[in-house]
Amino acid sequence: MILRKSPEEIEKMADAGRVLARCLTMLSGKARVGVTTEELDLAAERFIRSQGGEPAFKGYRGFPGSICASPNSMVVHGIPGPYKLSRGDILSLDVGVILDGWVADAAITVPIGNVTAVAGRLLATTRDALFDAVEQCRPGNRLGDVSAAVQRRVEADGFSVIRALVGHGIGRQMHEDPQIPNFGEPGTGPELAEGMVLAVEPMVNAGTHGIRVAEDNWSVYSQDGSLAAHFEHTVAITGDGPRILTPWHLDEALRPARARASAPQPA
Ligand code: MG
Repeated sequence: MILRKSPEEIEKMADAGRVLARCLTMLSGKARVGVTTEELDLAAERFIRSQGGEPAFKGYRGFPGSICASPNSMVVHGIPGPYKLSRGDILSLDVGVILDGWVADAAITVPIGNVTAVAGRLLATTRDALFDAVEQCRPGNRLGDVSAAVQRRVEADGFSVIRALVGHGIGRQMHEDPQIPNFGEPGTGPELAEGMVLAVEPMVNAGTHGIRVAEDNWSVYSQDGSLAAHFEHTVAITGDGPRILTPWHLDEALRPARARASAPQPA
């Protein structure tokens, strides 16, 4: 069953989302050559607690970190540790915040210094796929419209949607119904309605769609070793359309640029 939230409850989630967005924006500035993922984890936890929140991932099914930090061919669920960022890495940062009993969940993937052209395109495509999907989060649309929007963008750009990992509803619990695959048929699935809140999260491999889980039972890698990217927003469905509750902002230098000259630019 998909739980619907009242406008007051959505405001509570937006409060959690604001803390989370500021945390991710802060982390994107700190993710530099020579910094370890453990240092980012500590900075995130300190910031979230300073705002009266709790890191939602810490202790979740025994997860040891406050954030997930997943470099290069690691897709998601990376445990922060001694890994030191190098020039040319891409790093997925996934953060959850609980504030006043409500959860928000969001992720970005950032380049560390100059990255390869393929890595740059992968980041741009995955981020654009997220915003294409957010655009579909409107009353009267179907869940399949959200899923299909991701798939369309990713496959048009020659990359692969990961099929074994999905987005999710979110509210008092981090994972609520429905599951949100990043592939599907438009016009199918449950109808979206005002008050639903979705964590929409394209996870994309540069190569084929397969994944494998590492021996730590957390870290998920692309099976073929290709680079992987992940962007996520918590989005409320309102009468006015989608409302992003986790409005992270990326520094100009970190913003992935689209490679296709034909892509229309918003004025
Ligand atoms: Mg999520």
